[in-house]
Amino acid sequence: MSKKIHSIRKSQLIFNSGPGAIVDLSDFSGIVTGLECWDLDKVERMERRTRRGFTYLFKPPTIRSGYGGIPNYPHGVVPIKRFPTWVQCSNPECNIFGQFWHVKSQRNEFKCQRCDNKLVPARLIRICKHGHISDFPWHQFYHDGGDICSFVEPKYRLVVSEQQSGSLNDLRLFCECNRHPEGKNLVEVYSFPAGKVCGRRNQPWIDDGDGPCTVPAIVVLRGASNVYFPMVLSELTIPSSESKYDKFFAQEFSREIHTLRGLTNLKIRHEVIHDLLKPEIVTQFGIEKEQLVLKIEEYLNDDSGSSIFKDEESIRREEFDVLSNPTIVTEDIVPKLFSANVVEVDSILQRAGIDKIVAISRLQEIRVLRGFLRADPKDGKMVDIGESVGGRYPAVEVNGEGLFISFNESQLNKWEKKTECHREM
Ligand SMILES: [Zn+2]
Ligand SMILES: [Zn+2]
Ligand SMILES: [Zn+2]
Repeated sequence: MSKKIHSIRKSQLIFNSGPGAIVDLSDFSGIVTGLECWDLDKVERMERRTRRGFTYLFKPPTIRSGYGGIPNYPHGVVPIKRFPTWVQCSNPECNIFGQFWHVKSQRNEFKCQRCDNKLVPARLIRICKHGHISDFPWHQFYHDGGDICSFVEPKYRLVVSEQQSGSLNDLRLFCECNRHPEGKNLVEVYSFPAGKVCGRRNQPWIDDGDGPCTVPAIVVLRGASNVYFPMVLSELTIPSSESKYDKFFAQEFSREIHTLRGLTNLKIRHEVIHDLLKPEIVTQFGIEKEQLVLKIEEYLNDDSGSSIFKDEESIRREEFDVLSNPTIVTEDIVPKLFSANVVEVDSILQRAGIDKIVAISRLQEIRVLRGFLRADPKDGKMVDIGESVGGRYPAVEVNGEGLFISFNESQLNKWEKKTECHREM
């Protein structure tokens, strides 16, 4: 088996070619495998805890795709599996069509066994809104729903008609059993009933797919935009007034926090916290012991829900508070990552409704690939890529700078009303 290494940029991994995405490589079309297939021992971990509660983030490996199960590369390896498995010969005189292990040449698995020309991936695949993906059922399609070909290993040809308009209507599928002497027109794939329910084990990006899926499957072009919607969560690395405590409770004090969570009697819990707080801990924070006890109790009450993720609105609210008032930041845990100054707003800008301008000379955003959706980004079910690997997710850091501008709310409200009046008139 030949071995191939390809390189895909890190940002591309996060946005368009994460686990479950289809990627076009020079010789074949493949699907990026799930994190359970990656060599996660070789990835570079990011030492941080995000406000959404991600505790294990890692940088996407640089050398990231191997076909043929290449075991060891310095930064880990991301295997890619062939997908779709159906391919066709690019030679118009040959037209062989089938699963690649049936039609590939012995010498080179990317070439046709009959004429040695390049094999190209089938144009059509199926997806469902639960994130599944599969080959189109070509055998059943040609044989009108049943698996009833007189040949055990039927050989197909996919022929383009004279018109060559590029549409599916030009394509006819033939099988050596000759059930359809004129060929089966590919435009019929959209009305083919056996292809309409998703089915089972339609997760080729992981080794063992899950049980039956009864939602409708849709037939799409392999490169269609609805095949993969990456779910990227973004947050700014901003110091908040609580960050020093959060960090301490979550990291150095985590064992104690775990024990305290088990105590349901609040009075006893209060006393236990008192006993745990040795003077050397209290002095680290420069506040009264009783205040620190309160902070811990707040933390316990706040973080005790089942969800480890802060909701979207509170994340944005925190960011807004820090960006609009950077001077409140006193306990900067990441001084190299955040730096901002308030700029004076002159009267002309104030009259125009601008309330505040903050010049940010250093800002970092962290983008985490949480999962992906297919078919329907609004109504679909997200595939959580880190669930099966203990909550580990690939992430990238993006450093930048910029201007933060906030508008005067009462002036904005007035303006909104004014335009509404205009509309009514
Ligand atoms: Zn061929
Ligand atoms: Zn047949
Ligand atoms: Zn499905």
